[in-house]
Amino acid sequence: MTTIVQSPLAGRLWPAGTGITPAGLCLSGIPLSDLAEAYGTPAVILDEDDFRARCRAWRRAFAGHDVYYAAKAFLCHATASWLNEEGMGIDVCSEGELRTALDGGIAPRSIVMHGNNKSADELAAAVHHQVNLVVIDSLDEIRRLSAAATAAGREQRVLIRVTPGIDAHTHTHITTSTDDQKFGFSLRAGAAAEAAEAVLASPGLRLVGLHAHLGSQITRPEVLHAGIVALVTFMGSLAQRRGVSTEVLDLGGGYAIAYTPDDAPLDIATIAPRLIDWVTRACQDAGLPVPRLAVEPGRAVAGPTAVTLYRVGTVKRQQGLRTWVAVDGGMSDNIRPALYGAPYSVALANRTSAHAAEVFTVCGRHCESGDVIAKDVLLPGDLEVGDLLAVPASGAYHRSMASTYNMQPRPPVIAVSNGQARPIVRRETLEDLQRLDVRT
Ligand SMILES: *Cc1c(COP(=O)(O)O)cnc(C)c1O
Repeated sequence: MTTIVQSPLAGRLWPAGTGITPAGLCLSGIPLSDLAEAYGTPAVILDEDDFRARCRAWRRAFAGHDVYYAAKAFLCHATASWLNEEGMGIDVCSEGELRTALDGGIAPRSIVMHGNNKSADELAAAVHHQVNLVVIDSLDEIRRLSAAATAAGREQRVLIRVTPGIDAHTHTHITTSTDDQKFGFSLRAGAAAEAAEAVLASPGLRLVGLHAHLGSQITRPEVLHAGIVALVTFMGSLAQRRGVSTEVLDLGGGYAIAYTPDDAPLDIATIAPRLIDWVTRACQDAGLPVPRLAVEPGRAVAGPTAVTLYRVGTVKRQQGLRTWVAVDGGMSDNIRPALYGAPYSVALANRTSAHAAEVFTVCGRHCESGDVIAKDVLLPGDLEVGDLLAVPASGAYHRSMASTYNMQPRPPVIAVSNGQARPIVRRETLEDLQRLDVRT
């Protein structure tokens, strides 16, 4: 019996159930090398106990308010059922996500629907299933949703998505609250006020509040504070001009997690009381009733709970050049480094090594030079073909953004809990890849 030592970064950079043994890394007490043997590589290994614990921590931190998990981070039947069991709501932005959420048992009253171009069918599905809130993102959508609601003889509760004009100081591709972007209605340009008028004039719609999503990987609480101040100011003008009382204030997601040991994740137990306090005080100062808060974490729930397990296929050493380590996945299972230069950590998973560390660049197997997993990372110098590498913080925006580029089947997701492993998404097969081909 080998001793399992809790990894010092478990629960922060690595899933809470990560341990280190002389024979390498393990998750929930299971050696990662056994999981690679049983399920193949690449594979996403997800710590179910950590996922559930994170749901409970968010629920506790926002007791009396609502927590909607952002489905786009990663959703499948099993995770939807865990979310349901842990009392989480869910934010969906397509009919596919809506169907999976309902199928997993999540009640319509715990569902929010988002999207900057929801189709008439998606809006009709939202009304038909009686989702709690639809977040309005355009004037066209107000007409479409009003038509769907009146056709169904229902009243749909809506929030207006506003862009408060704040730069969250993240990457331009993940900035969502400056004025110059595709989401929401600008407060500064007066578009948000115009949208509110349109909703109030539309049959079948009931304006219950406002929504703003301030960005992704937000590390600075000041950004959230600035967003709250802008939203409450707008609440005040709606109350004054139109007598609209804001019941729900949805602050979106974007809470940062650690991708490398240097990153400082936002601690929700610390941040939640501050957010609640900022909203309460701003509303009291403005003489407004305090609304119910909603938050929509995706990455902060799912991200830290999984690792991707890869097998090393080649080690390329060239005089005077960087050493490349190629693994059996890459941008098809993790597009984030190619998309926004996201940094990652990598660890040797199938053994320990006393060899001195060297600098490696870990790349994928795809036909793109940007197909890099982690640049300039330290790994044992005796790293060799056949070794297993584990990449933490793989639970959000990996499998959900996966592609079949180069006709590479997408990896499975294996849940581990209490020392047991089970696939919750099976590995795609070559047959799956050809299933949509039409043969004439
Ligand atoms: C993406 C998104 C989220 C979740 O963002 P995270 O960074 O994963 O927390 C929440 N709400 C909306 C509207 C989003 O677009």
